[in-house]
Amino acid sequence: MAQVSPHTAAQSISTFTDDELRAIVQTAHKLGVKVAAHTDGHSSWEGLTSPGSAHQVNSVEHGYNAGDVFEVANKGYDERDGVPTFWIPTLSVCYTLGKDTGLWQRAASTFKQAIKASSLNVRIACGGDTGPFPHGDNALEMKLMVRLGADWKAVLKWGTLSGWECIRSMRWEGQTGKERLTKVHELREDARVVGDNEVPFGTVRKGFAADIIATSGDLEKHFEEAVDKGSIVFVMKSGKVYKRNGLEV
Ligand SMILES: [Zn+2]
Repeated sequence: MAQVSPHTAAQSISTFTDDELRAIVQTAHKLGVKVAAHTDGHSSWEGLTSPGSAHQVNSVEHGYNAGDVFEVANKGYDERDGVPTFWIPTLSVCYTLGKDTGLWQRAASTFKQAIKASSLNVRIACGGDTGPFPHGDNALEMKLMVRLGADWKAVLKWGTLSGWECIRSMRWEGQTGKERLTKVHELREDARVVGDNEVPFGTVRKGFAADIIATSGDLEKHFEEAVDKGSIVFVMKSGKVYKRNGLEV
């Protein structure tokens, strides 16, 4: 259709009706899981990020247009509503696939504007659409964020704790979730009891998954080199060491 009617066929539209979106979000949340919406923006996501709305999704991946990101920022989080909507910029996907189409330029400029706006309360996390680049090169997302001007400490958080906050089950949200989190140090959240996907991760804290990596690089001075897989000398996943002194165990 794009060949015979490019203007109509190539426009960005929502592929679900409002009723369908409501059913998707309500059913997922009733079952305790989150909803991610992949969108390239425009008005197709009207309502997707309004807190408390029956449509509110938990993350928006891509969102290449600054205006849309500002919508997430303005509506996407309110302490009283409990569950934020995260923005997953997927820069590495745009960088890998969209350098010739203008997509990368659009994504980069949106990201730059978003991090520059000091009033912006946007929740960011790294991830989404992995596949266009090889697994193991996922640090590219963090490299690009820092290259575009983001603070490296914030970027490390987006690549760790924010990831968990974004994808954790609904049982970690709201008042019940907050209470659960305050008891996490009591070690009742063992994977053997709650299952792999319910164990919190992303920070070094008693009760969180023992996922730790160490770099031989200097994060402050040479961030890109420090997060590159060649500099990662130690890897521990769920308490098990997979790499030590730069060598596989
Ligand atoms: Zn996508």
